[in-house]
Amino acid sequence: MNTLEKMLQANDNFVNNLPAEYLHCTDCEHSATISKYPDKQVAIYSCMDTRLVDFLEPALGIARGEAKIIKAAGNTITSAFDNIMRSLIIAVYELGVQEIFIVGHEDCGLANSTSEGLIQKMLARGVHPSAIHLVKDKLEHWVDGFNHPVQNIEETVATVRLNPFIPGDVPIHGLLFCPQSGAIKVIVNGYKHIS
Ligand SMILES: [Zn+2]
Repeated sequence: MNTLEKMLQANDNFVNNLPAEYLHCTDCEHSATISKYPDKQVAIYSCMDTRLVDFLEPALGIARGEAKIIKAAGNTITSAFDNIMRSLIIAVYELGVQEIFIVGHEDCGLANSTSEGLIQKMLARGVHPSAIHLVKDKLEHWVDGFNHPVQNIEETVATVRLNPFIPGDVPIHGLLFCPQSGAIKVIVNGYKHIS
């Protein structure tokens, strides 16, 4: 069985034995009452690290329906209107989000990556040098700019804080998560920087 087939089998089993915690149906068989608006009015932007799956949210007391969760490698922001910023903007203006949490983590894989190493792997997998040439500057800025998770959290918080589309009264917090113990350390207390 390939990966897709395994997932589909798992899905079949899941849907046919839907755990009670997911059942919020009222009058219609499939109409869940759970809202797309986050109950806790928060957005959390964290890393795609596998160790955070099913671990970061409970560690923050966040359950299904309570937060907007955004994830990308190294929880970086590359420009004032990149996909992450767009998600945060939608979260604030359309989905009732009132606070933003940037959550980096210890032992982040991006800290150990280099643009040169990535480029060598791309070339070895057949990526055309001209394609690499097109993104080389952005790749260097992104990958080589990530040196330490704490520094990255501070920079990402500052980038969101200074973004002209994010209202000044929205606290932008910066947290460091331990993927082993689940402990959180406050790097930036966003309440100290609201207007
Ligand atoms: Zn990471």
